[in-house]
Amino acid sequence: MTAIPSPTITLNSGHDIPQLGFGVFKVDPDETERIVSDALEVGYRHLDTAKIYGNEAGVGRAIAKSGIAREELFVTTKLWNDDQTDPEGAFQRSLEELGLDYVDLYLIHWPVAERGTYVDAWKGLQAIAESGRARSVGVSNFQPKHLDAILAEGGILPAVNQVELHPAFQQWELRDYLGPKGIHVESWGPLGQGKYELNELPGLQGIADAHGKSVQQVAIRWHLQEGLIVFPKSSSKERIAQNADVFDFELSDDELDVIRKADQNRRVGGHPDEIN
Ligand code: NAD
Repeated sequence: MTAIPSPTITLNSGHDIPQLGFGVFKVDPDETERIVSDALEVGYRHLDTAKIYGNEAGVGRAIAKSGIAREELFVTTKLWNDDQTDPEGAFQRSLEELGLDYVDLYLIHWPVAERGTYVDAWKGLQAIAESGRARSVGVSNFQPKHLDAILAEGGILPAVNQVELHPAFQQWELRDYLGPKGIHVESWGPLGQGKYELNELPGLQGIADAHGKSVQQVAIRWHLQEGLIVFPKSSSKERIAQNADVFDFELSDDELDVIRKADQNRRVGGHPDEIN
């Protein structure tokens, strides 16, 4: 099985991550093994799951069946909010579900700041990273105030912050904060989760037509050229393949600019301050 020609990004941990991966949020646990097997066959080598998705076991079965060498894969999972008081126990359970002896990236899923547990949870993730069972650790849905709180503790720097980011919600302020710190941005909901039509945004359809690509492919290409790490989800093998067919064209600076100007500060998912 040939891997897609995704570029890699070197994280501040020294480990490389394929910039384009495959996400499995809302993939039915009963279908996960088949769908992830499709993605691996298409050539994805980076998989993004989470304990709360309930499908780590299916991801693990697809990996085991694929015969792909473990070191060729990059696997991310996440610490759920209710487990912030026991990151070590939750991490062990995730490893067992996945059938792996290490993950490439382990993230705190949400700060859930009102609970007051994320700073200690971060110390737990640092210990897991030091043990080598997570090659890199990071956070998700953290705002600058949450990052400031964990950075004040010193120790390992989060490798990434995985946040909602798509053409209608480009998160420039957060990206400007993270960039100089060497914390890479992962875009969740890179296609707006299908909650709005990408071709409603000014200029997107014209760019897609000019390249003979879909607006979804243009959006994925935009994330890649912006230096973002991205893992669109689809349950259909055809779309899984389409979403990886983004390495035979390039957006010009003018086209990137058109997409930048399409930002509407339009969140489609939950606000980190409201998830508690
Ligand atoms: P997404 O933006 O990837 O959108 C997925 C939806 O877009 C699909 O259900 C489908 O309706 C549509 N779609 C996909 N490919 C298409 C195509 N080629 N043509 C037309 N429509 C297409 O949304 P997502 O799944 O929420 O985000 C991607 C991944 O990010 C998730 O699977 C998960 O791994 C991660 N995620 C993380 C968080 C977090 O809090 N950390 C939250 C949400 C998602």
